[in-house]
Amino acid sequence: MFDLNLPNISSSSVDGDEPLKLLVIGSGPAGFSAALYAARAELAPVVLTGMELGGQAALTHEIENYPGFPEGVGGSELGELFQKQAERFGTRTEFDTATEVDFTKSPFEIKTESGEYKAHAVIIATGARPNHLKIPGEEELTGRGVSYCATCDGWFFKEKKVLVVGGGDSALEEALYLTRHATSVTIVHRRDELRAGPILKSRAIENPKIDFVWDSIVTEVVGDEKVASVIIKNVKTGEESAIETDGLFIFIGHTPNTEIFEGQLALDDGGYIVVDGLMQTGVEGVYAAGEVADPHFRQVITSAGMGAGAAIQAVRYMEEKGL
Ligand code: NAP
Repeated sequence: MFDLNLPNISSSSVDGDEPLKLLVIGSGPAGFSAALYAARAELAPVVLTGMELGGQAALTHEIENYPGFPEGVGGSELGELFQKQAERFGTRTEFDTATEVDFTKSPFEIKTESGEYKAHAVIIATGARPNHLKIPGEEELTGRGVSYCATCDGWFFKEKKVLVVGGGDSALEEALYLTRHATSVTIVHRRDELRAGPILKSRAIENPKIDFVWDSIVTEVVGDEKVASVIIKNVKTGEESAIETDGLFIFIGHTPNTEIFEGQLALDDGGYIVVDGLMQTGVEGVYAAGEVADPHFRQVITSAGMGAGAAIQAVRYMEEKGL
């Protein structure tokens, strides 16, 4: 993670009676891109960092697909650059987490762990979290062979053996991506039938680099400095075995961080915030950007673009309302 001793950090998270023009909830690529655009339009945004400054991208060892960095850039370093650029134009970063929102009030009211904010416009960029297996070794070896993002980390497994857990579209799509780099990709699925749609299913089955271990779950990740093997268990026979591998990619679904918006905003079946093409939620003046509203692309560049779009709309909204 990056340096928490940054300038511009207010000792108080509670603003006085004067509402903010714009509050951004979340500090990943979407949040700080939104703040950058809003700050340059003189909305003096406040960014609530949430638990994970920089969002999921900051946890990625190296990002090689964000334009402008031909040699790649560390995830935390890129997050720090996003933050610095947004702060340069007047963004204020608060190390605080939103816990409750009331979008029926005008201005909107947002409670946090440390206090309360009022704001005329809000951009939600709280992201999503990949579901974890919650097995021994998983947490310790994350970033050392355990990964939740093939497009981020696949390159590091050039000419290596990897395992993929999951049977949905994400698992198959990412497994197919991994075949570009790895010598072999073994998909471990807990049933004997894939959840994924027919096109991805047949592409995966036909790919000579991919093989399947059916009816099985991974129960432990083994390794000291990096992943060496995993223990798998056949759920039908109970038989346990070890498979040597260099990497373990886990794609068992994502959970958008939208719990605090339930009942306030329209969410889709997966819990993602529903927005229109202008990043507008069902509540005028409330926008959502990045993975919290995007179950499809989940990339730093797309999240940053959505954040910029949301801020442009927020600026227009403030101008229309004369705020
Ligand atoms: P998903 O469809 O929910 O699939 C999750 C997979 O993980 C399932 O196969 C599930 O097994 C397995 N799983 C869940 N918990 C597990 C656990 N604890 N241990 C082992 N396995 C576990 O999630 P997704 O693949 O991320 O897809 C999310 C949505 O995005 C879907 O609607 C999908 O169609 C869409 N999507 C589409 C595309 C595309 O069209 N190209 C690409 C990616 C995602 P079971 O099957 O036994 O439940």
